[in-house]
Amino acid sequence: MERISESKLAGYLAQAPQGTREGAETARVVKTPLAYLNQRLGALPCTETLAQYQQWWETTGCVLSETVDRWGTPTQRPHDRFGTRVDEIILPAGYTELVQTGYTHGIVWRALEQRDWCGSFALGYITAYYDAGLYCPHTVSLSTAVPLMKYGTPALKERYLPLMLRRDGTAWQGATWMTEVGGGSDLGANVQTVAVPDGDAYRLTGAKYFCSNLNADLAVVAARPQGAPSGVRGLALFLVPRLRDDGSLNYTIRRIKDKIGTRAVITGEVDLDNSLGYLLGSAESGIYLILEVLNISRVANSVGSVALIQRALDEAESFARRRIVFGKALVEQPLMRAQLTRWRDTSDAAFALAWEAVRLLAEVWTQVPPYSARYHLFRLITHLAKYWTAEQAVQAAKWCMEVHGGAGVLEEYGVERLLREAMVLPIWEGGSHRQMLDALEAMQRRQAHTLLLEHLAPTADPAELNDWRTRLDTYLQQSPEAQEALLETLIPPLAAWVGRVLCRRAS
Ligand SMILES: Cc1cc2nc3c(=O)[nH]c(=O)nc-3n(C[C@H](O)[C@H](O)[C@H](O)COP(=O)(O)OP(=O)(O)OC[C@H]3O[C@@H](n4cnc5c(N)ncnc54)[C@H](O)[C@@H]3O)c2cc1C
Repeated sequence: MERISESKLAGYLAQAPQGTREGAETARVVKTPLAYLNQRLGALPCTETLAQYQQWWETTGCVLSETVDRWGTPTQRPHDRFGTRVDEIILPAGYTELVQTGYTHGIVWRALEQRDWCGSFALGYITAYYDAGLYCPHTVSLSTAVPLMKYGTPALKERYLPLMLRRDGTAWQGATWMTEVGGGSDLGANVQTVAVPDGDAYRLTGAKYFCSNLNADLAVVAARPQGAPSGVRGLALFLVPRLRDDGSLNYTIRRIKDKIGTRAVITGEVDLDNSLGYLLGSAESGIYLILEVLNISRVANSVGSVALIQRALDEAESFARRRIVFGKALVEQPLMRAQLTRWRDTSDAAFALAWEAVRLLAEVWTQVPPYSARYHLFRLITHLAKYWTAEQAVQAAKWCMEVHGGAGVLEEYGVERLLREAMVLPIWEGGSHRQMLDALEAMQRRQAHTLLLEHLAPTADPAELNDWRTRLDTYLQQSPEAQEALLETLIPPLAAWVGRVLCRRAS
């Protein structure tokens, strides 16, 4: 296979602190992400595009991704040499190509213009197979474009949407900034950013503590309109451009965060100071809009997690086929074979669960509050998927490292990167506790468990279905405190079972 041209490669690597690791240069995997997608989903309408995108990763993207990871935390140039505040982020050469190629192939425009959500998430799957952190910029751009399309005024949409849907390598990127320094789970208590009306727009003042895709052109930001009630009911969602009309900065970067992984997405802290923002939807329904944004990102996180699981298993199997222990290939040893088989089954169930969230999102994404029962089913499946796939991704990356023995922990082989990338998956977009608690809330308040059991009835084993009906009804009769305290006895087995049932339906 022809790899990146020598001159281009030399150019990119000259920017990197050292040469490329063996992982990116030579380790080829047993399967490809597209082959797996086709195996699980049949031929997708945009298969040719997916094949091109995968080919780009094989020839170019992997090297760029490796370079960005090695580059480490980018630096910030706050001022130009004349003293004007510019907040430029210094990135390795090739970063723009790395991030823009996903947009060119349609991660955002396919979903919004063609309603091809499967195509968008299939591109995301391929992205995350090669670089799970890179799927974050794509995800938050999608999660910005959707509320803009659904809730933006005609003037806002006309002005900004076409820029986000560009296909020429210059697509505007989005970002979703909710979390402040007090904490991300309890947004109602911790969002201190205030929005003051100013003509048709608002002026936002406050500080955002975790801002991924820091170099985005537009962000959706949670803030409290002046005089709004405390708690989550007083929050609203605003569209905040990076630059004002006169080209000056609309907010400033306080600092860039130094992370163990996901270096293909830049994360930092932002100061908003009378920053121009446009209200999306109504202020009263703000919290619903914020949760819609998060739910799209949770579906993407699930897809990214299952891609990382597949990558970890492919790498582990590839190594185990060639490593000889006690006279035969590691993969031929009964214990290793059994573990690999169990992991492949888990991977298939996790994929089925994640993809059900994609299918349901494609059905319900245009809904506005108050939502239908189908939306509540989507929410429950999304919480289960986000929780379970992310937890499995961390375990799969750890197992892959163990299969490699000592080589697994050495930076030079790239296997450790999978674990570094995986560790954030259960944390961002609402941590695992939050997903379990939100799944419980959907069951308590929306009877989403009944919807789930009805949804699975055509495929599930009737005895298992009955067992789960009894188990869930009994569980929900406990005191509220017991229901929260015992969630780990309920959600992991429920998610695993739902995944297995959906997997049976798919195959
Ligand atoms: C690399 C990275 C990038 C990020 N990018 C963004 C971004 O772009 N935009 C953005 O808005 N946020 C972003 N975040 C923030 C992320 O969403 C938060 O870290 C996450 O929501 C958890 O919030 P927290 O870190 O403040 O932890 P806290 O909210 O303080 O929670 C601490 C712990 O308590 C748990 N917990 C919370 N409530 C309960 C409960 N009731 N019962 C039991 N346990 C509970 C949590 O799960 C967590 O384990 C990013 C985070 C990281 C690490």
